[in-house]
Amino acid sequence: MNTFNVLTIFPEIFSPVEKGIIGRANDSGIIHINKINIRDYTKSKHKNTDDYPYGGGEGMLMTAQPVIDAWRSIKNPGITIFLSPKGKVLDQKKCIELSEYNNLTLLCGRYEGIDERIIDKIIDEEISIGDFVISGGETAAMIIIDAVARMLPGVLGNEKSNKNESHFCSLLEFPQYTRPENFEGMKVPAVLLSGNHAKIKEYKFSKSLIETYLKRPDMLKKRGITKEEAKFIIAELPEKERDILKYLK
Ligand code: SAH
Repeated sequence: MNTFNVLTIFPEIFSPVEKGIIGRANDSGIIHINKINIRDYTKSKHKNTDDYPYGGGEGMLMTAQPVIDAWRSIKNPGITIFLSPKGKVLDQKKCIELSEYNNLTLLCGRYEGIDERIIDKIIDEEISIGDFVISGGETAAMIIIDAVARMLPGVLGNEKSNKNESHFCSLLEFPQYTRPENFEGMKVPAVLLSGNHAKIKEYKFSKSLIETYLKRPDMLKKRGITKEEAKFIIAELPEKERDILKYLK
């Protein structure tokens, strides 16, 4: 079982990962989302978990004592991550790496952040969900739990369903369609209805390449493409031929 220990002052707001695929994995014991309420550990008279920053400045900071004592209550914290806009930005590669740990501990900041000594004492790594600021680490922690849990065996019904997903194989997912075949005059591509599995496979792969080229050229450049793969793009976007050559491996 993979355990996600979450240190938070808002344990009641984790319902997004307690429903759907991730919720089922939690209910069936494939993963365990262990929420620890930092406030339960405060020794302050008024149950505070925050205080004014030394040297002045905006807002409040989370104090060290309740966070550290809450962390110490965890039997096996594994690696401890602080969700922070200063961290390394999360990507699929990082999620795969994190899925290899049996125990992860996620510290959710609130207010203007946390006393730096918490980082010095217990934090192994800081992770950001993107170059913007949100009001608390909880939504960021849920994103990590969701993205990492999906990588674990048994969480997605079909083990293969990961492999085609955007980012998993350095390509974005191909466009998909469900019923009806004709929606307000917009038809599903005929090849998908053909029953020809080889053709469908090729179609999906070429659409993945094209989708990535059009929407995330930076990803495709990093991955590189073979001459064979370039042909798929040129077939659909002939005017891009010269540009595509720059992507060759
Ligand atoms: N004053 C801080 C931001 C505090 S926001 C600064 O300028 O760096 C409050 C909390 O929200 C943070 O402690 C962190 O846990 C969380 N948070 C904010 N933005 C985040 C991001 N991009 N990724 C992950 N966590 C974030």
